[in-house]
Amino acid sequence: MKINNLAVYCSSSDQIDQAYFDDADVLGVVMANKNINLVYGGGMRGLMGQVAQSVKQNHGKTIGVVPEALRIEGVVNTIDDELIITPDMHTRKAKMIALAEGFIGLAGGFGTLEEMLEVMTLKQLGYHEKPIIFLNTAGYYNHLFAMFEHIYAENFAKEEYRQLYQVCDTAEQAIDYLTGYKPPSLPAKWFV
Ligand code: AMP
Repeated sequence: MKINNLAVYCSSSDQIDQAYFDDADVLGVVMANKNINLVYGGGMRGLMGQVAQSVKQNHGKTIGVVPEALRIEGVVNTIDDELIITPDMHTRKAKMIALAEGFIGLAGGFGTLEEMLEVMTLKQLGYHEKPIIFLNTAGYYNHLFAMFEHIYAENFAKEEYRQLYQVCDTAEQAIDYLTGYKPPSLPAKWFV
């Protein structure tokens, strides 16, 4: 599958281990080399800032999508090819989803989790069929995946819904997954 725009959801924190920045850096390099544009939250902090900087340094294109309330100097990046300002956070998230042909989550906090779970929820309801990847730097998301297993074991979601998302250990693996992606055929969400 040819991906033109990839949405990257990731941390806005600067106070995290270097390993997370390294993966964000590699992802930016690989995206630029493959001519995949970055769609992201437009922040200059944390992994968002890192991935955008790497894409730009390698002659790729970045599209920041920022809600009006977060258009703050020192918060919003100034290096983007395109900066889209939205009236609010809901519009911003919808815009990112519409622009992107795939989604990847790097390590992050509540904002990242919310974004990843939103695209998973929309996919399980059939609103889209786009690829969703967790880049599991240093096993960061292992506790979340254990929670997902608990969800399947307790029948809060069907086991086949593991196909909603792919777990990758490296950015290269993630790009390979996107290239070969075909939407899964999932059973109806409802347990009847
Ligand atoms: P968190 O994981 O809580 O650090 O939140 C990061 C995620 O929330 C990113 O993927 C962004 O899309 C969004 N986000 C957080 N801070 C900002 C910001 N200052 N500007 C735009 N988006 C942000």
